[in-house]
Amino acid sequence: MTENRSGHGGGCLCGAVRYEIHGAMRGVINCHCDMCRRLHGAFGAYTKVENADLSVVEESGLAWYDSSPNARRGFCRRCGSSLFWQPAGMRTTSIAAGTLDQPCGLATIGHIFTAEKGDFYDIADGLEKFAGSAEGALDGA
Ligand SMILES: [Zn+2]
Repeated sequence: MTENRSGHGGGCLCGAVRYEIHGAMRGVINCHCDMCRRLHGAFGAYTKVENADLSVVEESGLAWYDSSPNARRGFCRRCGSSLFWQPAGMRTTSIAAGTLDQPCGLATIGHIFTAEKGDFYDIADGLEKFAGSAEGALDGA
């Protein structure tokens, strides 16, 4: 496994996917959509980076699932960790915040797709909530 301490690192449970970030990370947004709920078993907590700032340094386990015509999701074929959400035709990748090495220094900034959230939990942290997409309202945070 490559260990490069010049950027912020992260990776899957087993180490067959490792990445480095060499740029700004957005605050964490919790996505409560139906697809994230099924994939993560609850909501998906994601930061976001420019693709140019993301280097996958170990990709032996990396596989992609086209979860919709508009986006694909990167996961580890060995341990099952979910790592990336990548929208088609855009220059950014959302990264599952739990895969970041700790401490990651980020804070949660809001909730999206709350209309599709599971009924087994409440959102009670007082952060901004959007029934669907935030349409960029939380970017830059
Ligand atoms: Zn793995």
